[in-house]
Amino acid sequence: MSFSNFGFIPPIGKAISRINYSNPTPIQEQCIPVVLSGRDVLASAQTGTGKTAAFCLPLLDLVANKPKHKHKRNISPDVLILSPTRELASQIEQELKRFSHFMDTNIVAVVGGVSYKLQNKLLKSNVNFLVATPGRLMDLVRQRKINLKHIDALVIDEADRMLDMGFIPDIKKIFESTSQDQQVLMFTATLNKQIEKIAQQFLKDPQRIAIEQENKSNKNIQQIAYPVADYNQKKLVLVDVLNEADLNQAIIFTATKREADRLSDELYLMNHRSKTLHGDMSQRERTRTINRFKNNEIQILVATDVAARGIDVDDITHVINFDLPRQVEDYIHRIGRTGRAERKGKAISLVIDKEKFMLQKIEKYANIKIEIIKSTHSTSDVSLVYKKKESGFKKKRRSTAGGKKNDKFTASNKRKKPGFKADAKTKAKPRRRPVKKNIKPQATAS
Ligand code: AMP
Repeated sequence: MSFSNFGFIPPIGKAISRINYSNPTPIQEQCIPVVLSGRDVLASAQTGTGKTAAFCLPLLDLVANKPKHKHKRNISPDVLILSPTRELASQIEQELKRFSHFMDTNIVAVVGGVSYKLQNKLLKSNVNFLVATPGRLMDLVRQRKINLKHIDALVIDEADRMLDMGFIPDIKKIFESTSQDQQVLMFTATLNKQIEKIAQQFLKDPQRIAIEQENKSNKNIQQIAYPVADYNQKKLVLVDVLNEADLNQAIIFTATKREADRLSDELYLMNHRSKTLHGDMSQRERTRTINRFKNNEIQILVATDVAARGIDVDDITHVINFDLPRQVEDYIHRIGRTGRAERKGKAISLVIDKEKFMLQKIEKYANIKIEIIKSTHSTSDVSLVYKKKESGFKKKRRSTAGGKKNDKFTASNKRKKPGFKADAKTKAKPRRRPVKKNIKPQATAS
């Protein structure tokens, strides 16, 4: 099948050629004709399958063919796309902009963490596609800045994630402020009883589309686990993995924000171009970090689950689960950051005894076999190496707080110390740490 079979208007066809998509992916093949017919869709498809284009392309076509509403008093979008996280919202916004390159379509994202002043400015003009996280959207609807009564389509992306993050009551309220007779498309990585129940509330006689678990992202990703004795051994194996010759860019997932900060600092001191990404950072800082990662200025991103969702960087060769996720579904989302767009990727999990149960659960859930590789490192080696690094870091923090003289802990000095593995290619630069700002509590992604 080719994209020309869908009969898209010429500017969409031109945009598809411009971004070099040759053939539709399975989710696109099945979803696009149904969306074009106006029917509701309940699709289970994992990240990396091309689901964003599966709903954006036909909706762009539908909106372009409809007469324009004119509402002067408040913003009345044609299509509302709900995303659980700011990063995914921003990724959808960017994809929509690529797909509508040859069209006059106004796309606006409203997400938590961005100043209201800036968002109000964006909301002054006519909006065709509104991409939003539920919390911020609710605020704007309450303030009567946005009117959802005239939307033609509502997309609920990553519904399973919305459920995990407690957004379903918000989505219900958002749904109640629409006319409730718009087309609704719901996407989810996992389809279980709870999701079915939610689907019944929002969808009318939906076409069900299931893209099998055994999708291309799984086939392209080599999945490995290293059983390790303890936390220190985890770190030693991590250092080895980061020195693998085929590593281009990597995301390391940790269980907590604090752990992400700590690990990123340690790796930075080992001359890795590392940076943290988590929900305590301001939206500006998060966007900046993702852009720097996309431009390969950052090689290793140390992230928590929520923040890393929606990251679409083709050069990620390795996803490393420093800590296994608490939810099995998150494993699939995490590893979906690599092996994108037909490339090969590696997913490596560092597993201590108490995490073995979770590893088995993941294998069962995803119907996969994760290759177990024994680590050759001894725990005592690692404690020596890391204790040194940690004390070095503490000193650096103190001297930075004093405002001066942190240069004695530059990476070039570190490289001379025994037992310290340095990446010779990376230049040592003193790093300016971001100042943590007070962030207003948001109902959106944390
Ligand atoms: P998604 O599942 O929407 O996050 O998409 C995963 C990746 O696949 C993104 O980098 C898309 O740009 C890419 N992609 C989506 N559809 C196609 C296609 N038909 N051909 C090639 N790449 C695609």
